[in-house]
Amino acid sequence: MTKYIFCTGGVVSSLGKGVAAASIGRILKSRGLSVTVQKLDPYLNVDPGTMSPYEHGEVFVLEDGAETDLDLGAYERFIDENLSRASNLTSGQVYQEVINRERRGDYLGKTIQVIPHVTNQIKARITEVARHSQADIVIVEVGGTVGDIESLPFLEALRQMRKDAGRNNTFYIHVTLLPHLQATNELKTKPTQHSVRELRGIGIQPDMIMCRADLPVGKDLRDKIALFCDVEREAVIPLTTADTIYEVPLTLEEEGVADFICRQLNIACRAPDLSEWRRMVEHIKKPKAHTVTIGIVGKYVELEDAYISVYEALHHAATQQDCEVNIEWIPSENLERMRQIERLERVDGIVVPGGFGERGIEGKIVAAKFARTRQVPYLGLCLGMQVMVIELARDVFESDSPNSTEFNPTTPYPVIDLMADQRDIASLGGTMRLGSYPCHLRDGSIAAQAYQVKVVHERHRHRFEFKNEFRDVLSAAGLLFSGLSPDERLVEIAELKDHPFMLGSQFHPEFKSRPTRPHPLFAAFFKAARERSQTANQPSLMPVLETQATAP
Ligand code: GLN
Repeated sequence: MTKYIFCTGGVVSSLGKGVAAASIGRILKSRGLSVTVQKLDPYLNVDPGTMSPYEHGEVFVLEDGAETDLDLGAYERFIDENLSRASNLTSGQVYQEVINRERRGDYLGKTIQVIPHVTNQIKARITEVARHSQADIVIVEVGGTVGDIESLPFLEALRQMRKDAGRNNTFYIHVTLLPHLQATNELKTKPTQHSVRELRGIGIQPDMIMCRADLPVGKDLRDKIALFCDVEREAVIPLTTADTIYEVPLTLEEEGVADFICRQLNIACRAPDLSEWRRMVEHIKKPKAHTVTIGIVGKYVELEDAYISVYEALHHAATQQDCEVNIEWIPSENLERMRQIERLERVDGIVVPGGFGERGIEGKIVAAKFARTRQVPYLGLCLGMQVMVIELARDVFESDSPNSTEFNPTTPYPVIDLMADQRDIASLGGTMRLGSYPCHLRDGSIAAQAYQVKVVHERHRHRFEFKNEFRDVLSAAGLLFSGLSPDERLVEIAELKDHPFMLGSQFHPEFKSRPTRPHPLFAAFFKAARERSQTANQPSLMPVLETQATAP
């Protein structure tokens, strides 16, 4: 019988509920239990694929092509399992299904209501994850904050789950905030009490309360929360802001969270083995002798969540190579017409991440040109690869016209163009080339050297591609098509010869990087950036020819 752990949030959003849920998954998995996670998002979009990163942060893509909430990225990184489409359920999906069934006549003339029709649909989707995954434990996190109108059907469904699955098979965790008042230098429990009262009003009595706080939480506060919120003292778990999110599983383990949960759910399991995880965290926290500065040139850099997997992948690579990484967030628009170009002078490597739409494109092209001509390591992710191709083509054709037809539909040099199977697609949701596809690597290339295998599978999210009629001319200019689809028709990786590292992938390697297994392309890029940073006389400040001589 599958056991369920339900995670709700209170007081404020952005509490790190996703990290808490993922960390619980990690400590349970370390006991030999199989774990999977599901996120319930109360918004009405079918998936976040159509949302602006400003609304929602990064869209995380799964192997099966599902466009999901960024918390799924945290789950995959912490639990080290590939999740599936069923792991992210939105109100949009629930209502769409209920309305489709109503139109088909499935409800036999009944009035369709939130309870039971919507809640039944939610429960069906939760139990489907359990059935499909056959996991010992399904952790279900509800997005948003208790008290939101939108999340009520989800919470009602979770309440009913205790009756359906049984008391011994359900465990409710409420994650709240203890705000710090500077004037009196104390943490306050009242918002937590109110939030738990709200949750109880919905019929859910939490079994555990996790309290996010910026200061250590004393015994008296824990007693007080236990008393007022009716949970056991050992089930009041402080989540003090950690140096690194990867430390959270270790903190939870020390607090006895998994033991408590296993006791309550009657789970017999072995002692935890977190040794590899602990080594990784120690490695992250160890002071590093060397710092490498990476510039991320993007359109949404004010909101770091928009590039969270890129940020994490860079940190995974840095930790493995015993370095600190200092990330410079560079808004691509600021580079247009060479404004703020000096910001690129200060970095050891440039990442141009994925993106859509014209804004900031010319600035990204400036970044690619800087990387190419100044021999600065460059990693292009999806759009970043397309930008790298456009920039090289502009140099080859000695013209500003080469472009992607996404940004200039009438360019005479459409080096990046809409994929043939995208031409007749009118609706935006879920219609890109999505998910995992194989890519064959070319022997002897930088890509093949990085991966050390011949075939890789990587995750995609794009509509445009390299236009093959330009292969010959760009190949003559030094571009190597080092990764191709099995039929060789689609360019998956392009890299520049005679450059320390200038490589772009049509896929998104960042989605597959894990803290204990940095992604090979990120590792290779970071190594090149590190080597550049370690060359004593700062090549970036030198003229191009000399730079070439000193480059690795
Ligand atoms: N906008 C580009 C495309 O659709 C790149 C997409 C991306 O970077 N994810 O092909």
